[in-house]
Amino acid sequence: MSRITDIIHSVPVDELTGSISVPVYQTSTFVQEAPGINKGYDYARSNNPTRKALEDIVAKLEGGDAAFAFATGLAAIDAVAKLLKTGDEIIAVDDIYGGAYRLFTQIYEKFGIKVHYVDTTDAENILEFINDKTKLIWIESPTNPTLKITDIQKIAEIAKPFGALVVVDNTFASPVAQLPFELGADIVIHSATKYIGGHSDLVAGLVVTKTKELSEKIKFIQNATGGILGPWDCFLAIRGIETLELRVRQQSENAIKIAEFLTTRHEVDKVYYPGLLTHKNHEIAKKQQNGLYGGVVSFSLKNDTVEAANQLVTSTKFFKLAESLGGVKSLIAHPAQMTHASIPREKRLESGIQDSLIRISCGIEDVEDLIQDLEKALTIKENLVLKEN
Ligand SMILES: *Cc1c(COP(=O)(O)O)cnc(C)c1O
Repeated sequence: MSRITDIIHSVPVDELTGSISVPVYQTSTFVQEAPGINKGYDYARSNNPTRKALEDIVAKLEGGDAAFAFATGLAAIDAVAKLLKTGDEIIAVDDIYGGAYRLFTQIYEKFGIKVHYVDTTDAENILEFINDKTKLIWIESPTNPTLKITDIQKIAEIAKPFGALVVVDNTFASPVAQLPFELGADIVIHSATKYIGGHSDLVAGLVVTKTKELSEKIKFIQNATGGILGPWDCFLAIRGIETLELRVRQQSENAIKIAEFLTTRHEVDKVYYPGLLTHKNHEIAKKQQNGLYGGVVSFSLKNDTVEAANQLVTSTKFFKLAESLGGVKSLIAHPAQMTHASIPREKRLESGIQDSLIRISCGIEDVEDLIQDLEKALTIKENLVLKEN
């Protein structure tokens, strides 16, 4: 049986009624026959059948032992960080998701957990920081917004002898394009707000664990700290997963065509997309990403100014100006003023976020319409984008 058939049919048919879609068990508690005698459910923070259906599908999707659904991607990241104690250390990719950076620096460092931010595009760079206090190695690949790629397998090989767990935030690739457990990861997390939900109508997070031992630990944290995903949102996430493969394939096909189009434009300076042969770590991306590179493309302008970027991001019709990514409708964003506005300009420039850097999330629209939309926005009258300085 192929993977896609397996995933679609792993959504269970409701035993009571035959309902082909998972019922939304909107309940807080479950009636017991006698104290402690129940049908496997007692209280909805601990477990809920709609959530269980989602968690089982996600475990299968990533090839893990178990999965756990949280209220947001950040709540999922927080649950994994709670595996640590004072004195432990984390090595994290240097352009980690901004919310994770804020969580580590402003919450966890207060509790005596040290985080080293390292450029992991060369895996060996972690050697300088890894020691027996290192408990987690936190990787995103591709990263946001410059789509840097890390060799996950190499990182796992270096981490193993130190007993450090490799955590991969697989949000940008999605399990369609990348399976981190096959590359040696121990924990996979997702902002299901993005590709897994896929319709820009949901905020959710997932933790997937490779071993039973880790599953028990995360299950305990999920119940003890309580940041679970509600049943209606679990239903939406399941419905998203049923079309995940179709969507990510289309988004990746659109993205490579758009990235290639952008490289031909004289208004455009750099184009960042792991599917391009010119990408620094294209060979690694090709090896670990099943030939799909996701729907996010970033690019900068020859006129490297905020004003030029502003003109472009407010001139598109189909690319809607908004944060987030992974939905069926295309989005456009200006990181320096939006997702990365809280990072000082100097630091932004260091990590390649130029003043004019623009990030697009390709949806599933017809790619010719999307290309025309960008073409028009690049060539409107009194073109700031074109002006070279
Ligand atoms: C959006 C995002 C998160 C945070 O997820 P939320 O659902 O917004 O809390 C974490 N990691 C990555 C890579 C993201 O893009």
